[in-house]
Amino acid sequence: MIRRFINKVLGRKPRAAGSSAQILPQAKHGIRRNQLDECALKTCETLAQAGFKGYVVGGAVRDLLLGFTPKDFDVATDAKPEQIRKLFRRSRIIGRRFQIVHVMCGRETIEVTTFRSNGQKEAEDDDEQRPTDEHGRLLTDNVFGNMADDAARRDFTINALYYDPARDEVHDYFGGVADCKKRVIRMIGDPETRFREDPVRMLRAARFAAKLDFHIDPDTRKPVATLAPLLSNIPRARIFDEALKLLLSGHALRGVHQLRAEGLHHGMLPLLDTILDDPTGERFITAALKATDLRILQDKPASPAYLFGALLWPQVLQRWKALEAASEKSQPALFFAMDEVLDAQRGQLAIPRRYDGMMKEVWALQPRFEQRGGQRPYRLLEHPRFRAAYDFLLLRAESGEVATELGEWWTRFQDVGDAERERMLIADNAPKPRRRRKRKSPGEAASETSPE
Ligand code: ATP
Ligand code: MG
Repeated sequence: MIRRFINKVLGRKPRAAGSSAQILPQAKHGIRRNQLDECALKTCETLAQAGFKGYVVGGAVRDLLLGFTPKDFDVATDAKPEQIRKLFRRSRIIGRRFQIVHVMCGRETIEVTTFRSNGQKEAEDDDEQRPTDEHGRLLTDNVFGNMADDAARRDFTINALYYDPARDEVHDYFGGVADCKKRVIRMIGDPETRFREDPVRMLRAARFAAKLDFHIDPDTRKPVATLAPLLSNIPRARIFDEALKLLLSGHALRGVHQLRAEGLHHGMLPLLDTILDDPTGERFITAALKATDLRILQDKPASPAYLFGALLWPQVLQRWKALEAASEKSQPALFFAMDEVLDAQRGQLAIPRRYDGMMKEVWALQPRFEQRGGQRPYRLLEHPRFRAAYDFLLLRAESGEVATELGEWWTRFQDVGDAERERMLIADNAPKPRRRRKRKSPGEAASETSPE
């Protein structure tokens, strides 16, 4: 009220819509308290007892409205980081640029964030420039604000919902509940400005569309095609985190197609460009993403290293075969190809080096599945990476890169008893590599020890 009066006197623009929330009672939003995580409830309660506000916010409220089980719970409050930390014995402040507090509760961590503003409103009111780079990217979001500011700085309407456990109410500033019902991803504010402020929001739009099976509102979608190149200004590590979230969302296949449809894969998974144009590559990636989605649906762990190993395999295979055709020996050719592909992608996606070991092992074991005579299949079975490498072989068989029979042979070889295994062995007809004997001087021959 006072603010509006001051604005009027000073001839300033009024605040944008959304500065007051629609408050929905339980009968309207349908979230039941027992669907909420005990720790999140306890955190909000402790904040309220100390005289602060405490709301469950963001993805958790959205997911509960849609009937999904939330992955994690975030809490927003008007308490400052230091005040939050004092209220919870097991808590710590993290982040330097913008501090958030991790409250530990049993084995869980609740992320508690003080209401903040992206500075946009203040700058509009004061006719000042916000700190942005030349493309409009916000360089700081380091300003505390009130709850309405906090809602306005969030990305999509469905992500700006606050659940108040004390009153069992949902505060909805931008029509997020209606958008959940309409299954639409809609940007808060002017889409172009908001995408320029943080281009990663384009990837988030694609990720949420895939994860929730929502469509992107046409006005929100419109600027994406033009702004997609701005992703090249984003630190590679942040893009990698976003890629990982998409790939491990349980909807990776849909997500990757969504990225392609929006032209966003150049910024996030540039490797998709070449892979998806080659039919075997496309079949392989589809099989790999489907298998990952299934694992996540079944609550089984999915290894990022394995997944990136799969995404890069079509390139490794292409290079490997090209080097072989140029009369390089098979094994060294594969190792050359692995290193080349890993080096080339570092500039693009920043796959952490700690994944290299597993990716290389799984790739390097692939030719060994062809060897089905003598002791070699038994030795392969004993290899610590056998399981991952075998799963990988099945993807190759599914995509038509190797014979289905080869995958089936290995499935059966693991299942049957010793006698049957013996019968299954296929004599290796490939010519044995001839040992080139060096002519030795009599002295050398005498001092030779065993080859081991
Ligand atoms: P998920 O289910 O993937 O965790 P989420 O919506 O909880 O989805 P988070 O990345 O955990 O996503 O972020 C929590 C909340 O913070 C979001 O719901 C949104 O309100 C806000 N947020 C996160 N990233 C951004 C961003 N780049 N721009 C604006 N708001 C953001
Ligand atoms: Mg979240």
